[in-house]
Amino acid sequence: MALPLEVLHDEQLGQRSLRSLRAFAAGEVLTPFRALATYDRPAQLTLQVSEDEHITLLPSVLTFTNHSCHPNAFFDVEQWQVVALKPIAAGEPITFFYPSTEWTMAEPFDCACGSPHCLRRIAGASQLPEHSLQGQRLNPHITRLLQRASRQR
Ligand SMILES: [Zn+2]
Repeated sequence: MALPLEVLHDEQLGQRSLRSLRAFAAGEVLTPFRALATYDRPAQLTLQVSEDEHITLLPSVLTFTNHSCHPNAFFDVEQWQVVALKPIAAGEPITFFYPSTEWTMAEPFDCACGSPHCLRRIAGASQLPEHSLQGQRLNPHITRLLQRASRQR
Protein backbone atom coordinates (compact mmCIF):
# COMPACT_ATOMS: atom_id res chain seq x y z
CA MET A 1 0.00 0.00 0.00
CA ALA A 2 1.43 3.39 -0.99
CA LEU A 3 2.03 5.84 1.82
CA PRO A 4 -0.72 8.51 1.66
CA LEU A 5 1.83 11.24 2.49
CA GLU A 6 4.35 13.24 0.50
CA VAL A 7 7.11 15.73 1.20
CA LEU A 8 6.85 19.17 -0.39
CA HIS A 9 9.98 21.23 -0.83
CA ASP A 10 9.46 25.01 -0.79
CA GLU A 11 12.51 26.21 -2.73
CA GLN A 12 11.95 29.87 -1.78
CA LEU A 13 11.72 29.28 1.95
CA GLY A 14 14.12 26.36 1.83
CA GLN A 15 11.65 24.37 3.90
CA ARG A 16 10.17 20.94 3.59
CA SER A 17 6.77 19.93 4.82
CA LEU A 18 4.68 16.80 4.92
CA ARG A 19 1.30 16.74 3.21
CA SER A 20 -1.51 14.26 3.09
CA LEU A 21 -2.43 12.80 -0.27
CA ARG A 22 -5.95 11.97 0.82
CA ALA A 23 -8.53 12.93 3.42
CA PHE A 24 -8.45 11.43 6.91
CA ALA A 25 -11.17 11.29 9.54
CA ALA A 26 -10.39 12.29 13.12
CA GLY A 27 -8.84 9.32 14.89
CA GLU A 28 -7.77 7.61 11.68
CA VAL A 29 -4.22 6.25 11.41
CA LEU A 30 -2.13 8.12 8.82
CA THR A 31 0.67 5.58 9.01
CA PRO A 32 2.42 3.31 11.47
CA PHE A 33 6.05 4.19 12.14
CA ARG A 34 9.14 2.50 13.49
CA ALA A 35 12.72 3.28 14.42
CA LEU A 36 15.48 3.42 11.86
CA ALA A 37 17.90 3.81 14.77
CA THR A 38 17.64 4.56 18.50
CA TYR A 39 19.75 7.07 20.44
CA ASP A 40 20.04 8.05 24.09
CA ARG A 41 19.82 11.81 23.46
CA PRO A 42 17.81 14.12 21.18
CA ALA A 43 19.16 15.36 17.86
CA GLN A 44 17.62 17.60 15.24
CA LEU A 45 15.72 14.86 13.44
CA THR A 46 14.87 12.49 16.28
CA LEU A 47 11.54 11.71 17.90
CA GLN A 48 11.46 10.97 21.63
CA VAL A 49 9.56 7.73 22.31
CA SER A 50 10.23 7.22 26.03
CA GLU A 51 12.05 8.88 28.92
CA ASP A 52 15.43 7.93 27.44
CA GLU A 53 14.97 6.80 23.82
CA HIS A 54 15.13 8.99 20.72
CA ILE A 55 14.59 7.50 17.28
CA THR A 56 15.12 8.41 13.68
CA LEU A 57 11.92 7.68 11.79
CA LEU A 58 10.73 5.21 9.24
CA PRO A 59 9.05 5.94 6.92
CA SER A 60 11.66 8.68 6.60
CA VAL A 61 9.20 11.23 5.12
CA LEU A 62 7.85 11.59 8.68
CA THR A 63 11.08 13.41 9.51
CA PHE A 64 9.57 16.41 7.69
CA THR A 65 6.45 16.68 9.85
CA ASN A 66 6.48 20.28 11.03
CA HIS A 67 5.45 21.61 14.41
CA SER A 68 2.18 23.46 15.01
CA CYS A 69 0.75 24.82 18.25
CA HIS A 70 -2.63 23.80 16.78
CA PRO A 71 -1.68 20.43 15.25
CA ASN A 72 -3.77 18.07 13.15
CA ALA A 73 -1.82 14.91 13.94
CA PHE A 74 -0.30 13.08 16.90
CA PHE A 75 2.66 10.72 17.11
CA ASP A 76 1.40 7.98 19.42
CA VAL A 77 4.63 6.44 20.70
CA GLU A 78 2.80 3.64 22.54
CA GLN A 79 0.94 2.41 19.46
CA TRP A 80 3.69 3.50 17.04
CA GLN A 81 1.14 5.25 14.85
CA VAL A 82 0.57 8.74 13.52
CA VAL A 83 -3.11 9.52 14.11
CA ALA A 84 -5.34 12.36 12.92
CA LEU A 85 -6.48 14.64 15.76
CA LYS A 86 -9.13 16.22 13.53
CA PRO A 87 -10.40 15.74 9.99
CA ILE A 88 -7.56 16.31 7.51
CA ALA A 89 -8.21 17.27 3.88
CA ALA A 90 -6.22 15.95 0.94
CA GLY A 91 -3.25 18.27 0.36
CA GLU A 92 -3.25 19.66 3.89
CA PRO A 93 0.09 19.99 5.72
CA ILE A 94 0.52 17.42 8.49
CA THR A 95 1.71 18.92 11.76
CA PHE A 96 2.21 17.79 15.32
CA PHE A 97 2.92 19.48 18.63
CA TYR A 98 6.62 18.84 19.22
CA PRO A 99 6.41 19.03 23.04
CA SER A 100 3.93 16.09 22.87
CA THR A 101 6.98 13.86 22.38
CA GLU A 102 10.01 16.02 23.20
CA TRP A 103 11.09 16.82 26.76
CA THR A 104 14.14 18.78 25.70
CA MET A 105 15.07 19.69 22.14
CA ALA A 106 18.45 19.83 20.46
CA GLU A 107 17.38 22.87 18.44
CA PRO A 108 14.62 25.07 19.91
CA PHE A 109 13.09 27.49 17.41
CA ASP A 110 10.59 30.33 17.04
CA CYS A 111 7.20 29.15 15.84
CA ALA A 112 5.18 31.04 13.23
CA CYS A 113 2.28 28.58 12.96
CA GLY A 114 -0.25 31.42 13.02
CA SER A 115 -2.43 29.85 15.72
CA PRO A 116 -3.99 32.41 18.10
CA HIS A 117 -2.55 30.20 20.84
CA CYS A 118 0.92 30.04 19.34
CA LEU A 119 3.55 29.52 22.04
CA ARG A 120 6.22 31.37 19.95
CA ARG A 121 9.33 29.76 21.40
CA ILE A 122 9.25 26.01 20.91
CA ALA A 123 11.57 23.99 23.06
CA GLY A 124 10.78 20.73 24.78
CA ALA A 125 7.90 20.29 27.23
CA SER A 126 10.37 20.86 30.08
CA GLN A 127 10.80 24.49 28.95
CA LEU A 128 7.11 25.41 28.71
CA PRO A 129 4.82 26.67 31.47
CA GLU A 130 2.41 23.90 32.38
CA HIS A 131 -0.70 25.87 31.36
CA SER A 132 0.60 26.12 27.81
CA LEU A 133 0.35 22.33 27.49
CA GLN A 134 -3.32 22.29 28.45
CA GLY A 135 -5.60 21.06 25.71
CA GLN A 136 -2.72 19.30 23.93
CA ARG A 137 -2.59 15.55 23.67
CA LEU A 138 0.70 14.43 25.22
CA ASN A 139 2.45 11.08 25.24
CA PRO A 140 2.67 9.23 28.58
CA HIS A 141 6.43 9.72 28.95
CA ILE A 142 5.92 13.51 28.76
CA THR A 143 3.10 13.35 31.31
CA ARG A 144 5.30 11.27 33.63
CA LEU A 145 8.23 13.69 33.26
CA LEU A 146 5.92 16.67 33.96
CA GLN A 147 4.61 14.97 37.11
CA ARG A 148 8.15 14.23 38.26
CA ALA A 149 9.23 17.83 37.60
CA SER A 150 6.25 19.32 39.44
CA ARG A 151 6.96 17.16 42.50
CA GLN A 152 10.52 18.50 42.51
CA ARG A 153 9.45 22.14 42.32
ZN1 LIG B 1 2.97 28.16 17.05
